[in-house]
Amino acid sequence: MAKDIGIDLGTANTLVHVKGKGIVIREPSVVAMNKKTHAVVAVGNEAKKMIGRTPANIVVVRPLREGVIADFEVAEQMLRYFIHRAIGKKRLFNRPNMMICVPSGVTEVERMAVEEAAMAAGAKKPVTIEEPMAAAIGAGLPVTDAEGSMVVDIGGGTTEIAVTSMGGLVFSKSIRVAGDELDKAVIAYLKKEHNLLVGDKTAEEVKITAGAAYPLEQDEYTDVKGKDMLTGLPKNVRVSSSELEEAMAEPLDAIVSAVKTVLENTPPELAADIMARGIMLTGGGALLKGLDKLINEKTGMPVLIAEEPLDCVVRGTGRCLEDARLRRILAADRW
Ligand code: ADP
Ligand code: MG
Repeated sequence: MAKDIGIDLGTANTLVHVKGKGIVIREPSVVAMNKKTHAVVAVGNEAKKMIGRTPANIVVVRPLREGVIADFEVAEQMLRYFIHRAIGKKRLFNRPNMMICVPSGVTEVERMAVEEAAMAAGAKKPVTIEEPMAAAIGAGLPVTDAEGSMVVDIGGGTTEIAVTSMGGLVFSKSIRVAGDELDKAVIAYLKKEHNLLVGDKTAEEVKITAGAAYPLEQDEYTDVKGKDMLTGLPKNVRVSSSELEEAMAEPLDAIVSAVKTVLENTPPELAADIMARGIMLTGGGALLKGLDKLINEKTGMPVLIAEEPLDCVVRGTGRCLEDARLRRILAADRW
């Protein structure tokens, strides 16, 4: 029997869940390739280590940008690599069923591109599921009940916000502001305030180590290594979480505004359910210190952080693969 697999093809990370086994792959959606021959040099963790460190003939690319496939061929190769790693090449004679997440805002063409990449990578019949729905299921929200639940999934490229009830998305919104934009804001701030040049990877590390969305009880600090813009020489700068909060204010505000828009568009009965149950944060961005407090302060709603927020989406696909009733309710049982 072919193993059913669930895939969270994220802009930052790809996760693969194999039925009966659990999550077997959890790696960055990054590919290093030869510029001329387009031969793949490394995928995932190996490739991410190379960011900003490659010789001229190698490029490191992220085939998914803002939640959709930006580079189809590379995305397909990456998907194939992860699927082979997850279930072995032999299994592909016996093509597995696959459930893959797509952002809620994608067009039909974009959705089909994902299905095609999955087919090319060895799937029998790929089925797509909307990311916020998978995130909500993975976070343990009662999506099939006649009750409103709200999930905010903050990934690398997109923030997906949705209200679910009775197995459907009552309202959803996807914005192209998420982790990457926070990193960019950190880069811009360091340039402007400290004349310090840093790459994407360093900016992300700074954000994860000392970044905050809301004042912390005690400020945290991190030393940032970069290049002085004026002298061109290496330089160290110490930044605090309150500085980083200021640096990221704009993208954070965009995320909060989107959450508010969804709340404003939520029917009153469902809004009352959300008030009682709270807004659930998922995705890597949910781990940003103080983000729950910021959203709570700006919306007046209770805010919860999902357990292992980075795993919610793929966990959701895993639950769907194991639960035929759930698939029927979600109309995701075209197999
Ligand atoms: P995607 O679904 O787009 O692949 P993920 O849900 O995997 O995204 O989240 C990746 C994003 O989460 C990245 O922007 C990363 O920097 C961010 N992230 C991961 N851990 C943390 C953390 N502890 N604090 C803040 N941001 C984090
Ligand atoms: Mg995601």
